[in-house]
Amino acid sequence: MSPEVNDDVWAEVAFDTLAVRAGCARTNEGEHSEALFLTSSFVFDSAAHAAARFGGTEAGNIYSRFTNPTVRTFEQRLAALEGGERAVATSSGMAAILATALAFLSAGDHVVCSRAVFGTTNVLFEKYLKKFGVTTTFVSLTDLEEWRVAIQPTTKLFFLETPSNPICEVADIAVLANLAHQHGILLAVDNCFCTPALQKPLALGADLIIHSATKYLDGQGRALGGAVVGSHKLVEEVYGVVRTCGPTMSAFNAWIFLKGLETLRLRMEAHSASALALAEWLVKQPQVEQVNYSGLPSHPQHQLAAKQQRAFGGVLSFVVKGEREGAWRFIDGTKIMSITANLGDAKTTITHPASTTHGRLSPEAKTAASISEGLIRIAVGLEDINDLKADCLRGFANMR
Ligand SMILES: *Cc1c(COP(=O)(O)O)cnc(C)c1O
Repeated sequence: MSPEVNDDVWAEVAFDTLAVRAGCARTNEGEHSEALFLTSSFVFDSAAHAAARFGGTEAGNIYSRFTNPTVRTFEQRLAALEGGERAVATSSGMAAILATALAFLSAGDHVVCSRAVFGTTNVLFEKYLKKFGVTTTFVSLTDLEEWRVAIQPTTKLFFLETPSNPICEVADIAVLANLAHQHGILLAVDNCFCTPALQKPLALGADLIIHSATKYLDGQGRALGGAVVGSHKLVEEVYGVVRTCGPTMSAFNAWIFLKGLETLRLRMEAHSASALALAEWLVKQPQVEQVNYSGLPSHPQHQLAAKQQRAFGGVLSFVVKGEREGAWRFIDGTKIMSITANLGDAKTTITHPASTTHGRLSPEAKTAASISEGLIRIAVGLEDINDLKADCLRGFANMR
């Protein structure tokens, strides 16, 4: 066995070293790259050995719904990068959010959630958790007073995503953690857009981090997965839900995400640099009414983003003239960018939120979340920035 995150050497090393090395555990074959354990169950030396494992008197693998060595390597590496004690991997980002809700919420409990969360997160809280007697109040991501006023004696969880999708609003994690803790409330932060390469919510006071590994942790649009990161105590609760209810990450996907983590910081910096360049360029285009990107000095939370994040991330959105017609014509005029709702890929993706990712929201909810008909989201990939600008010019030309 070699590099375990809790060995002395590994407590000292920097992010980039952890990204490549943390969690590695070699088998007796001496493989250099991490092994992929495609096995659903594990064998025991004897009946007594099996009993010891099942009884919990001996630690070790039993069945891959509980633990799997490849998945554990991914969990240890992600936990190390987030500065958390432990992580539990899940089959998707939504499974991570559901497992968190099942772990910490009971009938009669209340959640305060940012209005500007991933569309499906909104549906999970508003429709499905409500069926089990959990109520949710949706508030503005950036208005502290709304969070304060929404707190009830039964409030157990604050949930937010920063920067938000697709409007790029930025929440003050430290301030919200403070407010939550004054009332004995847990703060969960969906860190999908920044990843630990750009933002460390636990260090700012958050209790739990949610990931959709599907996005930047993979980085190449290949597999679905998620994770929850936090203290041993809290993650043990989430792990109990995952091993019992079954939204476990597959070993194959964990192996893909492990390789993704190795290049995470390099990719996040490249995505961020190109997104900033594109945002600065879009501001100057006559067909653009507004650009949402926290890297622009004109963004309302630019200072906060500059303090809280190492860079501004790869996602931006902008409003073109001509409402839905204008936005659709722009999108249909592009030739390089992929028309898809996914993000966090080496390939740039372009989306019309009002008719896709946020299409299920009521007109009022869309207005409250600033999802206008002319809004376009671009998740900037790793192509040459000049080719992306040229693609945007094709989009603008198609609007005339
Ligand atoms: C995609 C996404 C999710 C859901 O993740 P899946 O892996 O698709 O289940 C949650 N939060 C954010 C911010 C996302 O972008």
